[in-house]
Amino acid sequence: MKRALNFYAGPAALPLPVLKEAEKNWLNYNGSGMAVMELSHRSKEYDAIHQKAQDLLRSVLSIPDSYEVLFLQGGASLQFSMVPMNLLTSGKAGNYVLTGVWSEKALQEAEKVGQVCVAASSKEENYRHIPKINEIKLSEDAAYLHITSNNTIYGTQWDHYPTNEAVPLIVDMSSDIMSKRLNIENFDLIYAGAQKNLGPSGVTIAIINKKLLSHSNPSLPTMLNYNTFAKHDSLYNTPPTLAIYLLKLVLEWAEQEGGLSVIEKRNEEKAKILYNCIDESEGFYKGHAEIDSRSKMNVTFTLKDEETSKQFLQQAKEAGFIGLGGHRSVGGCRASIYNAVPVEHVEQLAEFMKTFQYKY
Ligand SMILES: *Cc1c(COP(=O)(O)O)cnc(C)c1O
Repeated sequence: MKRALNFYAGPAALPLPVLKEAEKNWLNYNGSGMAVMELSHRSKEYDAIHQKAQDLLRSVLSIPDSYEVLFLQGGASLQFSMVPMNLLTSGKAGNYVLTGVWSEKALQEAEKVGQVCVAASSKEENYRHIPKINEIKLSEDAAYLHITSNNTIYGTQWDHYPTNEAVPLIVDMSSDIMSKRLNIENFDLIYAGAQKNLGPSGVTIAIINKKLLSHSNPSLPTMLNYNTFAKHDSLYNTPPTLAIYLLKLVLEWAEQEGGLSVIEKRNEEKAKILYNCIDESEGFYKGHAEIDSRSKMNVTFTLKDEETSKQFLQQAKEAGFIGLGGHRSVGGCRASIYNAVPVEHVEQLAEFMKTFQYKY
């Protein structure tokens, strides 16, 4: 079988060794005579998977003991609500930096819960760049500062992060978690849907500074309170067992590849191949993001007009490239090059882009 040249924005490509390992165990997990999906979430076999996934996440991302690792459901989108429900105490304001559609959605949900404030925004410039750190203006009574580390739709990414000891920093890291080395202690809460870099959809992870857990009001609905998950090891109710099993396999793969430093270097290499192709095209391809805000996960670009973009996408499709259409709010093209997208696939795309340009 030929693997597709998969550039989907999410769910997205998974590492081939992960899929093979899952296939090998599909009907008979570890000699149990059962598929992973058939294991009780209270069984010894599942418990080992659950613990191992947590341990690996801690080791691959270097998460200190002062943080809880939680397995949640509802996607990153439910975190848009859970964050303010747990952490937006009355009389304070949730501060948001707007860098795209996801941060707008996070703000909208917080507005339903309490007071909010836009601390910085690049909306006026169609989200082509990430605001400078010194442009962020926190309100006086800030409960937290929320940012979106990578913007899948616009193809922008924070390169370094704001720091403010007094105000907790909360990051939606759905589309660049595990793509580069990080000092977890610079953040107070990181959340991410798994379906870009961590595994399939169905599980959402949260890495939360234990200090923040005391902020949640006990009258919150049980399933919307971070403490429920922290106290019960994310086993209060049935977790998404299959997704967590696949998360474990992806983490094992990341470890075998050499960990975050190797993955980070490879991601830089892949992004460079495509951005070089754009920059050397003499304006044939135009990057959406400003150069200092470019994402290493989602490369967004347009061609000279709609018609040429359409032809590009059509011919790319015929050549076997999947998922290159840009989001409707930006148009044009987008190549998502998460951890599991091989360098060779990116090289093939760059070749295709050069050939297309030459023809036109
Ligand atoms: C994909 C994505 C989301 C949406 O995640 P769901 O799991 O579908 O809710 C939110 N934020 C960012 C930054 C994303 O990339």
